[in-house]
Amino acid sequence: MDIAIVDTCLITMSGKGVGLINDGAIGITGDRITFIGKTKELNQREADIIIDGSYHATLPGLINSHIHTGETLLRGGAQDLPEIEWMNKGLGPFAKHLTSDDKILGSKLGVLEGIRSGTTTFSEYTRHATHLIKEVFLPFNVRVVATETINEVSSDRSLFKPTDIYVFNRDQGDSDFKRASQLFEEYKDVDLVSTLYGPQALDMISLDLLQEIKQQAEERNSKIHMHIAQGQRERIQIKGRYGADTTTVKVLENHKMLDNRVIAVHLHDSSPEERSLLVKRGASMVGCPSSISLIDGIVPPVSHYIEIGGVAAIGTDQAPGPGHHNMFREMRAASFSTKIIQKNPTALPAWQALKLATMNGASVLGLEQEIGSLEVGKKADVITIDLNNANLIPIVSKPFNNVIPNLIYSMNGNEVDNVIIDGKIVLKDNKFTNIEENSILKEANNRAKVIFEEGTEDWVKADSKMVSYRKNGFI
Ligand SMILES: [Zn+2]
Repeated sequence: MDIAIVDTCLITMSGKGVGLINDGAIGITGDRITFIGKTKELNQREADIIIDGSYHATLPGLINSHIHTGETLLRGGAQDLPEIEWMNKGLGPFAKHLTSDDKILGSKLGVLEGIRSGTTTFSEYTRHATHLIKEVFLPFNVRVVATETINEVSSDRSLFKPTDIYVFNRDQGDSDFKRASQLFEEYKDVDLVSTLYGPQALDMISLDLLQEIKQQAEERNSKIHMHIAQGQRERIQIKGRYGADTTTVKVLENHKMLDNRVIAVHLHDSSPEERSLLVKRGASMVGCPSSISLIDGIVPPVSHYIEIGGVAAIGTDQAPGPGHHNMFREMRAASFSTKIIQKNPTALPAWQALKLATMNGASVLGLEQEIGSLEVGKKADVITIDLNNANLIPIVSKPFNNVIPNLIYSMNGNEVDNVIIDGKIVLKDNKFTNIEENSILKEANNRAKVIFEEGTEDWVKADSKMVSYRKNGFI
């Protein structure tokens, strides 16, 4: 055995409940979990490295099921805006100055933040995913589910009116699709990497190309990771293109696109009946509660999707929306927002929030046999949390364990002090073992200043509400 964590509050997330074992231990050999049980049942002499887990909770590494890390250098760049302005008038003027190196640097920053707050699997959605895999995910030794973005519209839409119907460019779509196919080939045997197809959204891709993607996804037995029903901007496009009385879900259903391969991201602009249809077709969903509440003022229907029998997970989307890539904050946001919108304090309880970021994430991404819970035979993606913090004390185990609500409602994320991914220690006693954290932070800050400077003129011209905030001295 290579690593053992002993005397810990083990939260396995296996079985119906949270699978909590007090005085628990976990053993790791190579990249797999080889022991789960009580500490007294473990022969500690067999382990090369022993981590003292007393006053610690030990959990499966968290799964961020939808993230665009490449935009992290634009954190704080588009906040408190009307949804219709957010992408094209808010973020767009700066985003167009992001070079591919900036996206790599932003990704490093986002992944650093994610690891520090317990994320071990990143479901990254991006153009040129291979750049981030080579420069960030593999060197950082984190697990990545990579989705290559496929779309047929230009990324610079700052001069379009929201009612202008996008002109599709099939050549661009074909070259994106080709890159996606190559990604599958390139990484089919790489342990930390798995791949999904990513037609970006129905307003950005033609039905012809979508059908071709579906066919290839079937051949490769892959899932299709797609933004679906994500608000007014999309709705205007779909109605303009396909008719005033239709919706994204209706168009997809009519063209037989809905099945168990579909991972529907966002879904807040869908009706309850449409979500029932998605569940019936076997589709899963990912909600991004912080991002969607900050960008749209809407609570994504994660809780409803689970209530009607679907499988749902959560992610942080991109930093300029929610402002973070911290899954503890995301779990809390999911729970809070659901309680508020349902006016029901029992809605989306702590244990369910934790499932969203563990087993549910694994199921949505098709990795439920490998990650999402601590079980013998699964991959060794494990985090420990220092419970000896003022915001987490007391921790009691009688008459019940209060650790789960304390983790979800009281944690900040920086209490995570050890992170093991695929059997390798990435964060040890709060320090990265193989990542130059300080130089990345410094470089990210310096480079972001240049990008914001370069985008200033266009940003002023686009005249979003943020420009008036600045005039008034609010930002
Ligand atoms: Zn997204």
